[in-house]
Amino acid sequence: MIYLDNAATTRMLPEAAETMQRYLNEEYGNPSAVYGLAMRSRAAVDHARDVLAASVGAEARGIYFTSGGTEADNWALQYALEHRCSVVTSTIEHHAVLESCRYLAGFGVRVTYVPPKEDGIVDPSDVEAAMSPDVGLVSVMTANNEIGTIQRVRDISRIAHRFGAVFHTDAVQAYGHIPIHVEHDGIDMMSVSAHKLHGPKGIGFLYIRPGIRLGSFLHGGAQERGRRAGTENTPAIAGFGKAAELMFGPSSPYGTMQERMKRECALRDYAMNRLEAYIPGARILGDRSHRLPGNISVLIPGADSEQLLIGLDMKGICASAGSACAAGSLDPSHVVTAVGVPYEDAFGALRLSLSFETTKEELDAAIDAVRELTERNRVK
Ligand code: PLP
Repeated sequence: MIYLDNAATTRMLPEAAETMQRYLNEEYGNPSAVYGLAMRSRAAVDHARDVLAASVGAEARGIYFTSGGTEADNWALQYALEHRCSVVTSTIEHHAVLESCRYLAGFGVRVTYVPPKEDGIVDPSDVEAAMSPDVGLVSVMTANNEIGTIQRVRDISRIAHRFGAVFHTDAVQAYGHIPIHVEHDGIDMMSVSAHKLHGPKGIGFLYIRPGIRLGSFLHGGAQERGRRAGTENTPAIAGFGKAAELMFGPSSPYGTMQERMKRECALRDYAMNRLEAYIPGARILGDRSHRLPGNISVLIPGADSEQLLIGLDMKGICASAGSACAAGSLDPSHVVTAVGVPYEDAFGALRLSLSFETTKEELDAAIDAVRELTERNRVK
């Protein structure tokens, strides 16, 4: 099998799986209880929180565990209801943000959607133009999940703050893949998910800068400092912490983030060039350099990505059209159309997403297969 869908999810590190196993089977105490077994679970949760906080330059008390990126996005956007303010966001956000905005609009919240330029990057001056005194929340993702473009978070947060608004970023695709620092980048709230960096599914966190007024998302017990009730998912939290430790740690067997970035960028650039040279009409979507090291998003006009994905699967290759969340939808991706691709061509988008395990041979085999299948299946 050739797995090139790491933007959808990643293979868990064996060390993270082992850690989870331990907190499932042996150290199964409830972190809120008072005896030794429970205290060891509490220590595991605290340790993971410390590791995660340090990885983004945050205070540990700013990290709130959630069930993943979707919950973190939903929670952050709740800010607008609580503060009765308007929201500025982008048209290329993940559905977890866009559908939250739609929900807010049902309660009368005004939401302004800023489109990206054709390079898939939102221009901070367009965000500035969308600002008004009633805007209390700006939410723009750190990196796009479909075309991988890295947004100008630091410039946009500065604009948000100048207008007295709070800045949230969905960093689900970026975390663990490119450097993020909540202080340097001016981030007030940030969504992260473990399964995009070789941790378990169903766990993530919302960073909430100390001092930001945001109510509880789940009401009940006093867990997560009274802000997110429910017994902590200790095995997943411990597994998440372990994955982050290994992805950020200076002496990790998986290398440093800088080393992984360098290697993946070289592979990505090689594959992007080869796709364009080898497949007639193919063109890369999104800026070529301001993009995630592991993201290759290519448009093959006239191709039908669904047929392509089936053909690739039959050859043992896992890839994706736009995004995993758009799968099954009859409409083309909102991101692909937002970067100016005509509706009828937008069905030809293909995403290959790499991990530190991906090899050049795997990419060559995938590109050969894409070429063969597009020649066979091209509709025009
Ligand atoms: N935001 C982005 C940008 C994503 O790519 C994803 C997952 O694909 C999510 C949010 C949702 O995260 P989760 O799967 O942890 O709910």
